[in-house]
Amino acid sequence: MVEKVIPIRLDEGKGLVPSIPNQLRAANDLTTDTRGRPLRDLRISVTDRCNFRCTYCMPKEVFDQNYPYLSQKELLSFEEITRLSSIFATLGVEKIRLTGGEPLLRKNLEILVEMLAKIRTIDGNPLDLTLTTNGSVLRKKAAALKAAGLHRLTISLDGLNDDIFKKMNDVDFPVTDVLDGIAAAQEAGFTNLKVNMVVKKGTNDQEIIAMAKHFKGSGITLRFIEFMDVGSSNGWDMSQVLPSQEVANRINEFFPIEPIEANYAGEVAQRWRYLDGSGEIGFISSVTQTFCHECTRARISTDGQLYLCLFANSGFDFKTLLRSGKSDLEIANAVMSTWAARDDHYSEIRGSNTVKTSDTRKVEMSYIGG
Ligand code: SAM
Ligand code: SF4
Ligand code: SF4
Repeated sequence: MVEKVIPIRLDEGKGLVPSIPNQLRAANDLTTDTRGRPLRDLRISVTDRCNFRCTYCMPKEVFDQNYPYLSQKELLSFEEITRLSSIFATLGVEKIRLTGGEPLLRKNLEILVEMLAKIRTIDGNPLDLTLTTNGSVLRKKAAALKAAGLHRLTISLDGLNDDIFKKMNDVDFPVTDVLDGIAAAQEAGFTNLKVNMVVKKGTNDQEIIAMAKHFKGSGITLRFIEFMDVGSSNGWDMSQVLPSQEVANRINEFFPIEPIEANYAGEVAQRWRYLDGSGEIGFISSVTQTFCHECTRARISTDGQLYLCLFANSGFDFKTLLRSGKSDLEIANAVMSTWAARDDHYSEIRGSNTVKTSDTRKVEMSYIGG
């Protein structure tokens, strides 16, 4: 039985107040945090709602009909998201990932994509614009997203066996419809697709080899994610985590693989390739092999709070700042000083005495995105 929690977002309006320094600096003054990490990626949750109830993310017992989802006026508008994203781009952000909840449930999302596609980085390049989806409505949306300027897509799929997948999504959603969404994305012209599989030991780890076999040679990169202790409601415990190394060992028995170099510093997934040349797989091992030391990611929640870590228990209220008539330069300076004070490195101290039980009410993943 999952313990009923009071969701953190009830603290709405009580987010930390970002401070605007008296002396404003030029907005393209790149800032590193207290651990020397620059700000490069922004993840934006465009809705806290989802049509799935994945047991590791939005368990039914908590996210039921009484759950206090955000109202329309509490969400950042497309104009506010675009303004904030432009400000982040002037501060060195090069990549934006739209997420949720299920981002494709946000009405007219392709219009937001079109607005974001016009933003340029400090170097004058378009942003690397990407989106993570459960794939359920991708058949309907893929072509419009491509036309709007979305570069890349990641689709989540936790198994190929219908019974196991339905047990994970907990809403009886069939595998075939997600596979059809992936096909639709390919037909729309998306290349370099990625598929994310969260591995929960004892629940879907028997699907690892079938998934590897299915995507091997397809041009789609399958990535295995360790089940994480995000949020406060998914009943996480270490015994349900299958370390990436064990996943790699299992795959290696059937299809020999070897590790390869990261594409860039701070890449979340460790890359491996099949020795027979039939493609790549990835591992996101935030429990057993932490990567906080090169974490360059900031997150904006559905209602405009800036979170400095996936495991944070409070955010900085940029929505109020956006709606208070402050200039772009003032907001940019508030972001810079918030980032400069960042010390977050949760995965490195998970389980240590530094993380006290009273501190552990963390923000839900559906509210700030994965
Ligand atoms: N609804 C979309 C989806 O499922 O792709 C986007 C949002 S979802 C929160 C983003 C990613 O986080 C998904 O790939 C999901 O599998 C992953 N995720 C959610 N909860 C997780 C957990 N407890 N541990 C590891 N990954 C998790
Ligand atoms: Fe929804 Fe994605 Fe969370 Fe599953 S992982 S409940 S699809 S937001
Ligand atoms: Fe980044 Fe926080 Fe994850 Fe560490 S735990 S990698 S700081 S989001």
